[in-house]
Amino acid sequence: MTALNDRQISATREAWSAIEPETRAMFRTLWETPELPMMEYEAEAALSSWLSDHGFTVERGVCRMPTAFRAVWSNGDGPTLGFLAEYDALPGQGNRLEPNRAPDGKRGGHACGHNLIGGADSGAAIAAKAAMEELGLTGSIVVLGTPAEEILWGKIAMLRDGAFDGIDALLTSHGDYQNGAPSRPCLSCVSAEFVFSGVSSHGGSRRSQNALDAAELMVQSVERLRAHQFSNAIIGHVLRFAGYMPSITPDEARLWITVRHEVFEHAEEVYNLILPIAADAAGYTGTEFREQLISASRGYLANDVMANRLHDSMQIIGPPAWDDDDLSFMRDLSEHCRPGQEFVLDRDVAVHTEGCDPYGQDDGEASFYIPLARANWAYPTGVLLHNWAATANSGHESQFKGGVFAGESLALTAIDLVSDPAAIDAAQKELVGRVGTRKLSPPRVGGFDVMTQNPESFWDSTWVSHDRLSS
Ligand SMILES: [Zn+2]
Repeated sequence: MTALNDRQISATREAWSAIEPETRAMFRTLWETPELPMMEYEAEAALSSWLSDHGFTVERGVCRMPTAFRAVWSNGDGPTLGFLAEYDALPGQGNRLEPNRAPDGKRGGHACGHNLIGGADSGAAIAAKAAMEELGLTGSIVVLGTPAEEILWGKIAMLRDGAFDGIDALLTSHGDYQNGAPSRPCLSCVSAEFVFSGVSSHGGSRRSQNALDAAELMVQSVERLRAHQFSNAIIGHVLRFAGYMPSITPDEARLWITVRHEVFEHAEEVYNLILPIAADAAGYTGTEFREQLISASRGYLANDVMANRLHDSMQIIGPPAWDDDDLSFMRDLSEHCRPGQEFVLDRDVAVHTEGCDPYGQDDGEASFYIPLARANWAYPTGVLLHNWAATANSGHESQFKGGVFAGESLALTAIDLVSDPAAIDAAQKELVGRVGTRKLSPPRVGGFDVMTQNPESFWDSTWVSHDRLSS
């Protein structure tokens, strides 16, 4: 149960009210400037200067990552709480602030609502700091600016390189289809690009070493094997480069594959089963191939202590207070996405313990080392995440209210945890119990130099890396 008393609740809520207008302005700023993973230059600048203005000491470019930061404030002994700001956008999902498909011509769009996470989690940290000062509570707050969540990359690299060191508990948020605190896993993911290299020639010739043939053979073989050998794994792929024109035999083809499963070790095992297929496909076609690891990330490690404390705060705050305008926009949007289907939007606040969430999150990797709570707020079920509709919704007041609900709940949870460090001890004990005898492999990310020095080459599919999952 929460240890919060009335004075702590009112001081924190006042601190939140004071920062809420700036938080909302940040939602808007980030939404209007969507930037692809590892190219979040404007978002990083906006968030770090905001935190600096509110008394945080900000180290920019932490871990040699130009769009990462670490903002710290401390007023003495006590717990160290970490807030995780995300702010990257998704390619191809730009949309104007309209309840219908209206491409805005931008390279990316906030189709996962990270404009709200970056604003809410940073605003929560600012409010928690102000409330701690007001209440005379001591401890430290760290805001990690974590780029490239969408490729499950930033937090893995920051974890490996020490940015999470010294943090006792983690607080973050994400839009979902419910309001509340999940204490259940999400999917682990291994992600890599396979680059096949052949020989170009006139498309009419028959003996050329066709890189696209190799990539397509790999896709088909993986799918055939999946049906019988690892049907419970989710395998996604895109062909990122597949040639220029039919009359030039493709001398390069790039296949990006993700393997997802609830159990990290199983995702890894499946990945290792499909790896030889790349070699075989290259062998059949007389081409060569290169494995370019992107990342391997565990899914979320549930933590009941953290989820229950967050839920207590959410109940005090209450679910997002959507008005008629909000509901009407979201209804229109849902109707455009899924015509004729019932409009469903969660209005409750709950702890969610059943099942497994169908997405991956790179904070999952961190949750195996530091107890983590994630505040979820609801999108209507008709609005698909990673879709233009989520971009439109994430720029609208109706979802700003979700971000506000999450931010205020996180600020209150921070005060709860700082004033009751025994809860953090209990959360850490739960984590140790859940990890059990599992041996955790060190965090693995690939292409560090490319991502940090030339991310454009990752996004135009010309990058070169020799990092493999098992090196
Ligand atoms: Zn996301």
